Amino acid sequence: MKKSSLGKPAKNVKPARVLPVKKGTEAPVAGTEGEAPEIKGARRGAKTPATLRGMKDILPKEEVYWTLMRRTAENLARAYGYNYIETPIVEEAGLFLRTLGKGTDVVDKEMYIFEGDEGAKICLRPEPTASIARAFIIHGMHSWPQPVKVWTMGPMFRHDRPQAGRYRQFHQFGCEVLGERDPSIDAELIVMAYNYLRDLHIPVQVAMNSIGNLEDRERYIVELVGYLRGKRSYLSEESKKRLHRNPLRVLDSKEEQDRVVVEEAPQIIDWLSDASRQYFMKVLEYLDELEVPYVLQPTLVRGLDYYSDTVFELLADVPAEDPHAGLALGGGGRYDGLVEQLGGRPTPGAGFGIGLERTMLFLKRQAEQDPARFHDSVSPLFFAQLGEQARRRALYLIEQLRRVGIVVYHNVAKSSLKAQLELAHKYGVSHALILGQKEVQDGTIIIRDMDSGIQEIIDEKKVEVEVRKLLAKDRG
Ligand code: AMP
Repeated sequence: MKKSSLGKPAKNVKPARVLPVKKGTEAPVAGTEGEAPEIKGARRGAKTPATLRGMKDILPKEEVYWTLMRRTAENLARAYGYNYIETPIVEEAGLFLRTLGKGTDVVDKEMYIFEGDEGAKICLRPEPTASIARAFIIHGMHSWPQPVKVWTMGPMFRHDRPQAGRYRQFHQFGCEVLGERDPSIDAELIVMAYNYLRDLHIPVQVAMNSIGNLEDRERYIVELVGYLRGKRSYLSEESKKRLHRNPLRVLDSKEEQDRVVVEEAPQIIDWLSDASRQYFMKVLEYLDELEVPYVLQPTLVRGLDYYSDTVFELLADVPAEDPHAGLALGGGGRYDGLVEQLGGRPTPGAGFGIGLERTMLFLKRQAEQDPARFHDSVSPLFFAQLGEQARRRALYLIEQLRRVGIVVYHNVAKSSLKAQLELAHKYGVSHALILGQKEVQDGTIIIRDMDSGIQEIIDEKKVEVEVRKLLAKDRG
């Protein structure tokens, strides 16, 4: 049997440092030092495999949020004429190492890299854009109607330090437009990202900047490095390192001591060529036209090498005292050199990615304030039965209802009516259908209002009609 190519991490890849997570902030994780965390469902003293640090199970109680996030993405993508694309989670490591750039956190310390067949380095994708650019080339999408507009959704992997809102496996919804360069495309993508979060009732602010073309950036970096060298002693240790490896990243630093230095730094916007400046002005004009509020953020550079011209982020617009104030929910930009860099024909591109775990933080908050909006019952009905004959008939009726699209909760393995009605209460259904020996013989069925306890006997043949009436009433 062939050995799994995902089995062995490449020798020359240094695993990222694993930092302890504050106790009580996460579900039990594997490899936690010290006392083994208590696992709710484990037998006393038994060893239970836990989730890895920075990885999370998506649980049934979260289904309502994931369904909403996916449906909202689907509707939005359809409304703007984007088609779905899904690239593999495992790719050649070179795809990202070549394009994202040395000196970026993702490449330097966050990639999950393994040894594949014949020693080739393969990885878990840290982001979707490079994969989509690869797909564009290998599927000859340049000959499709241009521009090619695609959307995607799925897990990404970064071996980063786990903390609130930062996981090692996380999910993104993303849109990409390849094959055309026009400020209206950038504006459309920004509107889409903004509308996505607005449709989910999450207030965001769009932060905008332009990092110009490669030459603009090279000239600017010379200027920036000159300035930062003069202030070196005021910079944090991390920024001192970044100053050599990737000076633009110093602008991104969250450290207060760096912020002070960065505030006075030369701004990239002043180093743009006329063409890039005009392009950026047009993007902003279109945003004004489309009534998308934005702020200019001269320090926004997005860090990855493949970006050019427009860059943007979507930041949570909540009061400053809120722990999530300013949290980046998503970001994106233009990447006109990416396809060519990967060996394709020169093809402009632009896109965005929105983090779904962070989006969900806000949805969960909304659910606390307005639980009705997130009522996640599959059905407002429960089917209870009593006695062997009734159980058989119940199975038949449940199947008939399912075939006409009516779903009911049930547990036909239970024989006690009391236990079944308790279950119905737990599901929070408004009505229960009850079938006993007598009802089977009479060809009837009981409908019980779970709140009032009032029961009504109906003809079994009318069950679908009656249930539809209840469903219509429940929907208001
Ligand atoms: P980026 O392209 O790195 O700016 O990522 C886009 C969005 O994905 C961010 O704004 C976050 O919402 C989300 N994101 C990025 N990294 C992580 C992570 N490690 N854990 C959770 N969400 C993330």
